[in-house]
Amino acid sequence: MSEASTTAALEVRGVRASYGPTEVLHGVDLSVPTGAVLAVVGPSGSGKTTLLRCIGGFEPPTAGEVRIQGTPVCGPLWVPPHKRSIGYVSQDGALFPHLSVGANVGFGLPRHERTTDRIADLLAKVNLSADLASRRPDQLSGGQQQRVSLARALARRPAVMLLDEPFSSLDTHLREATRDLVGEVLRGAGVTTLLVTHDQEEALAFADLVAVLDGGELRQVGAPQVVYERPVDLATARLLGSTLELDAIVSGGIAQTVIGPVPALGVDEGRATVIARPHQVSARLDIRGRWVVRQLAFHGDHRRLTLGSADGSVDHEQAGGGATFTVSTDQPVRVGDRMSISLIGRALVVPDSGHHAASVE
Ligand code: ADP
Ligand code: MG
Repeated sequence: MSEASTTAALEVRGVRASYGPTEVLHGVDLSVPTGAVLAVVGPSGSGKTTLLRCIGGFEPPTAGEVRIQGTPVCGPLWVPPHKRSIGYVSQDGALFPHLSVGANVGFGLPRHERTTDRIADLLAKVNLSADLASRRPDQLSGGQQQRVSLARALARRPAVMLLDEPFSSLDTHLREATRDLVGEVLRGAGVTTLLVTHDQEEALAFADLVAVLDGGELRQVGAPQVVYERPVDLATARLLGSTLELDAIVSGGIAQTVIGPVPALGVDEGRATVIARPHQVSARLDIRGRWVVRQLAFHGDHRRLTLGSADGSVDHEQAGGGATFTVSTDQPVRVGDRMSISLIGRALVVPDSGHHAASVE
């Protein structure tokens, strides 16, 4: 894999970080190939911001190594933030409130490049009109402010762009539009990007690679579809989206569940959990079904059903709010209806004791 290490714009090896006596990063390894967009997804407090601060040079790791374009930037040869070839966009954009938009963007440029044309160029890159240059940040919408912040960060032509939940303060519509535009701009410019977010949907949609951070440790790194469909364990599965979880007993390559047998070749014998994603669950009206519709939400092109077990024998509340499935709108389902469910395609069977997950057709 020597080729991979030479093409990685950003390498993080065994990075640990502490605040006082409390260690919050416990040895993080991460490699972002040149030009790739990688999202680190993790719950609040998992260490996302600390990781970005270690990479950016705003926080010294207590152990480990960070390399940007192959050059070590911490350790004996400490490289300060402004010499690291990084751009940084934070949750609130952190624009200077007393400076105009143009001056904010210009702040990222060497003095001799601070021309009206160059600033207009940078604003155009993020799809903003040059007319906005004379405004103050508080005269822009939240999405526009984030784009100005990105333009300012791009001005330095960084090798690596660090984005710390830059879309989370925006409302839904603006969030998606801004996220798409920022993704386009960064990919178009070929800037290696590391986004951190607590929003799994955002991570899956935005990135080429997703890394799951939990409690200061990386659980899994892979393509969005792989981490979503093949999480290494139950905790990781839950961090990446809704799950249907069924208690199971594995014996002879079969997991027995309340909805019948599920293939579990190669899975350790004993107690296990069968994990499926909403799109892998088929629910149909069935007067003798084991499940009852607890909640129903209309989403335009589909409905989300929350099902509970009809006889109360199965508790699926542990994932927070019960088992949730997506079904098509043409089903005339009402709260209180009985349903049967079955699994489509590959479900994941995870032994309760170990961390090893096996998947089966
Ligand atoms: P995230 O960005 O994923 O929410 P952070 O990196 O901000 O997580 O925080 C990781 C942990 O470190 C949390 O438990 C947080 O409370 C703690 N922490 C963050 N910043 C500081 C600080 N300046 N001093 C002490 N503890 C901190
Ligand atoms: Mg944070």
